[in-house]
Amino acid sequence: GSVIGILGGGQLGRMLAIAAARLGLRCHVFEPSQDPPAGQVCETVTTASYDDTDALRAFADAVDVITYEFENIPTEALDLLETLRPIRPGREALRVSQDRLTEKTWLTDLGLLTAPFADIPDLPALEAALETIGTPAILKTRRFGYDGKGQVKIETPDQAADALAALNGAPAILEGFVPFRSEVSVIAARGLDGRVAAFDPGQNVHREGILRCTTVPAELSTAQRTDAVLLAGRILNALDYVGVMGVELFVTRSGLVVNEIAPRVHNSGHWTQAGCAVDQFEQHMRAVAGLPLGDGQRHADVVMENLIGHDMDRLPNLLSTADTQIHLYGKAETRPGRKMGHVNRIQRPA
Ligand code: ATP
Ligand code: MG
Ligand code: MG
Repeated sequence: GSVIGILGGGQLGRMLAIAAARLGLRCHVFEPSQDPPAGQVCETVTTASYDDTDALRAFADAVDVITYEFENIPTEALDLLETLRPIRPGREALRVSQDRLTEKTWLTDLGLLTAPFADIPDLPALEAALETIGTPAILKTRRFGYDGKGQVKIETPDQAADALAALNGAPAILEGFVPFRSEVSVIAARGLDGRVAAFDPGQNVHREGILRCTTVPAELSTAQRTDAVLLAGRILNALDYVGVMGVELFVTRSGLVVNEIAPRVHNSGHWTQAGCAVDQFEQHMRAVAGLPLGDGQRHADVVMENLIGHDMDRLPNLLSTADTQIHLYGKAETRPGRKMGHVNRIQRPA
């Protein structure tokens, strides 16, 4: 049987490893930190940093194919790994999605809508961009942001210097604030044979930059639903993508605007664990292993709710609620803003 190497041992890596085990695939996780969530469910874990080339080589030698649960893998590590084993999804998806400026440029070149954006190397550039883009706007670090970290909202132009200072000199991008009606995401997959399968779009609610809740079905017209899925397919095909991708969208009066893409399984796709015979984790593992994909069929309406920080206090209640599927990530310490688990509430059969 094949061995799948997973870069990153967080909750996404953990749920990928569980899905792999169900498929009879073995996993090997590479993760710099001690006792990661995926380590509890995966028989082999390499604990080493991404600049440890010996450890990277040994990891690659031990696996047949390499995938990942996060997009911020250091480029040098990828340069080495790709000479040793196939990396799925491929380098192009990582190149595009690791940097918000590259990502938005690539998406607009593909003919898709994004928020208006500008590269912000310094304060004069920010002041100029605020003139053209206007306010409100959001200043974001180009790289390494997640869960709304590395972002500052700018309400008026006089906040420019403070906003820039808050990012500590990290390369930044300014985005116009998109007046969205709602946020939805498409979780879609592309197989090694180029076939694409999409899950039904989910509607997302964020609070303080962190995803709180995803509901399927989303409130979308048939036309919007089709647009969303076709748009995701265009992105996958353009990247010659293999694996699951999350495409975050703003629903606006002028159509669907792409917020960002994630070249991996996605938090807003966790509902598929309760709503689909083949969930996003199994789908990703099938794609990476070169197996046929599930068709994305949804058999129930689901609400997924993240358990963040002290949401965990509600666990006893959730455990005694009918039709509630509980996923905990095995993180020892509860911290504010930390994703500890999620629940999928099955609303009714679809
Ligand atoms: P993730 O954990 O999804 O990777 P992230 O840190 O990359 O999050 P974004 O997706 O860029 O953050 O932003 C988080 C949320 O903030 C969005 O889902 C949306 O609610 C809001 N937001 C971000 N950018 C904009 C924008 N340009 N206009 C309006 N709202 C925005
Ligand atoms: Mg992001
Ligand atoms: Mg996001």
